[in-house]
Amino acid sequence: MRRQNLALVMGALAAHGPSSRAEVAERTGLTRAAVGSLVNELAAAGLTTDLGLAPSGRVGRPGTALALSGQGPAGLGLEIAVEHLGACVIDLHGTVRTWVEIEAPNRGRKPGEVLAELSDVAAAALQHAAAQGLHPVGTVVAVPGLVDAASGTVEQAPNLGWRDVPVAASPAQWLPATLRAVPVEVDNEANLGALAELWHGSTRPPDFVHVSAQAGIGAAVVIGGRLFRGARGFAGELGHVPVQPDGPVCTCGARGCLEQYAGEETVLRAAGLAGVGGDHIKTLTDEALAGNRRVLDALDRAGRALGTALSGAVNLLDPSALVLGGAYAELGEWLLPGMRAELAARVTVRPWNSEALQPSELGRRGPLLGAGTVTIRRIIEDPARYAAWRNTREVRKSS
Ligand SMILES: [Zn+2]
Repeated sequence: MRRQNLALVMGALAAHGPSSRAEVAERTGLTRAAVGSLVNELAAAGLTTDLGLAPSGRVGRPGTALALSGQGPAGLGLEIAVEHLGACVIDLHGTVRTWVEIEAPNRGRKPGEVLAELSDVAAAALQHAAAQGLHPVGTVVAVPGLVDAASGTVEQAPNLGWRDVPVAASPAQWLPATLRAVPVEVDNEANLGALAELWHGSTRPPDFVHVSAQAGIGAAVVIGGRLFRGARGFAGELGHVPVQPDGPVCTCGARGCLEQYAGEETVLRAAGLAGVGGDHIKTLTDEALAGNRRVLDALDRAGRALGTALSGAVNLLDPSALVLGGAYAELGEWLLPGMRAELAARVTVRPWNSEALQPSELGRRGPLLGAGTVTIRRIIEDPARYAAWRNTREVRKSS
């Protein structure tokens, strides 16, 4: 009961920002005395802070305003992408306090080398964060591949050329020393992009399908504000949904998968841009803006294939929104018309609300943003669990 009440108070502060004890009591349905005692516990764990006397027009004693702490516990997000590495630190308010990204051609590179460079990026982010009084208490790594979440192993990341890489199993071998007592998790970039949309997006619908493309095509399904992971954690492989049963052979061995129509490589090839270096999405955008017919046709074809595959998801799940995220959000202008046309023709609920499909404002920042926020959301949802973990850590330090 107390555990739930601690979460209620944290949740109210997270949702409404700085508030008086009376306001928290009103929003949570708890008594002021109960809120006072719960807040003491949260403050002792370094989760809330007293902002001093709040300006109050009310008669009686002015209440002091409470807020989630802008210092202390934070979330560290790390990202391994095909073309870059990133790190961010996010505070309890969900504010990005540090963001570091470097270009890194990771395709085909040895995992050890990539992790060593990621460690340097993490160290730079940690230094910025420490200067602001922030200390990450959880690390989440976003990767473009299938992950066994329980062991933190990247089972397959075809775009990196990785198989069975135990990223979280041996963090001491690659993470900066200051992070070695902090839990490390690994998750798929598409999942984390969808979670970022849920936590940081402009609309935050409770039920949506998030389609993203960084190197491959991924999707994630959020139902009732929770990520749906599937029986083994591999839900969301929209890239291998068939859009043409007798189509070209896919990297997965099947024929006519979505990735063979809307994957980055296919689109570049169809656009006559195979083998170009640099930022592929920017190249496609520039060419499309210049009116390059081949590029426009390739993007239209990709949009239609995306719409065809997604109509299956919409008919199956009836989500309130579809979000086009990752790098493909930047190509929305050219992908969305074809997607909308196929959805309108194939979704059985008619007329289909084409406004339900929107590009994400977070775009390519999604996966790293999500990775940094996982730890924070977990603390807000269960501050007692965090406080207990923190205590065992203090005990270990002092013994
Ligand atoms: Zn496939």
